[in-house]
Amino acid sequence: MIGRIAVGDGAAISVQSMTKTDTRDAAATAAQIRRLERAGCEVIRLAVPDIRAAEALRGLRAGTKTALVADIHFDHKLALAALEAGVDGLRLNPGNIGSRKKIEEVVKAARERSVPIRIGVNSGSLEKDLLEKYGRAVPEALAESALRHVRILEDLDFHLIKISLKASDIPRTLEAYRLVAGRVDYPFHAGITEAGLLLPGTVKSSAGLALLLNEGLADTIRVSLTAPPENEVDVGWTILRSMGIRRRGVELVSCPSCGRCEVDLPGIASAVAERLSGLPHDLTIAVMGCMVNGPGEAKEADIGLACGRGAGVVFKKGRIHRRLPEKNLVDGFVEDVLELAGQSPERGPGI
Ligand code: SF4
Repeated sequence: MIGRIAVGDGAAISVQSMTKTDTRDAAATAAQIRRLERAGCEVIRLAVPDIRAAEALRGLRAGTKTALVADIHFDHKLALAALEAGVDGLRLNPGNIGSRKKIEEVVKAARERSVPIRIGVNSGSLEKDLLEKYGRAVPEALAESALRHVRILEDLDFHLIKISLKASDIPRTLEAYRLVAGRVDYPFHAGITEAGLLLPGTVKSSAGLALLLNEGLADTIRVSLTAPPENEVDVGWTILRSMGIRRRGVELVSCPSCGRCEVDLPGIASAVAERLSGLPHDLTIAVMGCMVNGPGEAKEADIGLACGRGAGVVFKKGRIHRRLPEKNLVDGFVEDVLELAGQSPERGPGI
């Protein structure tokens, strides 16, 4: 459990992200936490580079019920302070925090609070001796590093462990997870690290996570993007939704448009998506460009709009609901969706 979020052993696959503000700036970080919550983030990780950041955790903890994880490197005092502040999880590699006594202190404090520790192995920060042994950060090196940290915790009879093995390319990441899955039975936090900017990072993360999810090698996911963290959460949810693993919010089916289309379909679809982006209801919505494939898709969705020349037809639960003139396509359709979701159009979806 990370707070109230179960991880592994058949629990729903959760979506995580990480704040990108300076954790010491409590106001900016709290605002980002709120944006992440609105996007549906279930576990939020914060970097804790120094004691002032650790101290800021207390106020941040008080301001949210969402599961918080402190990301710590090297300094066991920061881990102790974060636990004291009430975080729900630690990301920390026990082999990197020094003497056995320091590790024991952290493990004792984590155990007292039933706080799990994620061992996070990253291809960019592999131990020197493993790099020398393997020549570079190959999957075997990542796996050996993770298992080393696991053994340290197991020797202290601590088993609230999660593991992540992140390389910046898919084949190495996949192989590393496979290797560790064959050796231990702890849940996996999965993602492709340093995946890049929004579009290429989304593609890379989606391809990598689809493979990991398909092999049962992901229990909680984080999409890493050089973009606002809300985008990471959106992408995470879209991956889970498109694989039929979990559903949250609106799924928009829209056609690519072609020479048959006689309306501004990209404009209409984007406006509809934006207006409904905060709607938490589990709905499939279709926005289609013409009367060839439009009615079919629109009928299959919970609610759909099939556009034609100068007008559109709204289908609700497979039946024609009403016709809309072109100038009222977006407003009218959004109104119908909100009505179906049981929300008053004046209030809107809360965005
Ligand atoms: Fe073209 Fe119509 Fe298909 Fe859209 S639904 S791609 S406009 S044929």
